[in-house]
Amino acid sequence: MEYITPIVTPTVFLDRDGVINKDKGVYITSWNQFEFLPGFLDVIREFTERGFKIIIVTNQPQIERKMLEESELDYIHYNMGFEIMKSGGKIDGIYYCPHSSNKCECRKPKSGMLLKAKKEHNIDFKNSIIIGNSWKDMNAGSNVGCTTCFLIDRLTDLHKCDKEPDFCIADIYQAKDLIPAFFNTLNVERE
Ligand SMILES: [Mg+2]
Ligand SMILES: [Zn+2]
Repeated sequence: MEYITPIVTPTVFLDRDGVINKDKGVYITSWNQFEFLPGFLDVIREFTERGFKIIIVTNQPQIERKMLEESELDYIHYNMGFEIMKSGGKIDGIYYCPHSSNKCECRKPKSGMLLKAKKEHNIDFKNSIIIGNSWKDMNAGSNVGCTTCFLIDRLTDLHKCDKEPDFCIADIYQAKDLIPAFFNTLNVERE
């Protein structure tokens, strides 16, 4: 009997606010407020060219708080995806938690969104990294065995991380070389 070796694509999980777009300390409820962080579009193009799977996982509690309609959030994400595509990048999936309390299984620091993405996109957490600017992203990732990359953009509560982040970066641009170099060390087969 012949076995076919499963081919697993390295996956980059991205938090949204503070990683893709500027985290202005207020909830983004319209496309007008959405501003890409400098360098992000270059970084995602680089990830795309390297063949990584790119999945966004974002807490959007303003939905349950009735500050934002899901259709408006979809519109923001549609525009975001279009700008990324124009820059030569792509996104394989966007998962958001609409809930405002910790009762659900999807709100980070819980790992529900990552687990759902794993099922739907054939992801191997050992060949995955999560980039986020909150301890919640780090715990959502480390609790399922993802490598973690902490974007430290403010006085961040590092002590709330269950596990020390594997990488720390000061801005998203630093991920451009670091993440491909990290995946090269894993010797992963590409799709
Ligand atoms: Mg964030
Ligand atoms: Zn949720």
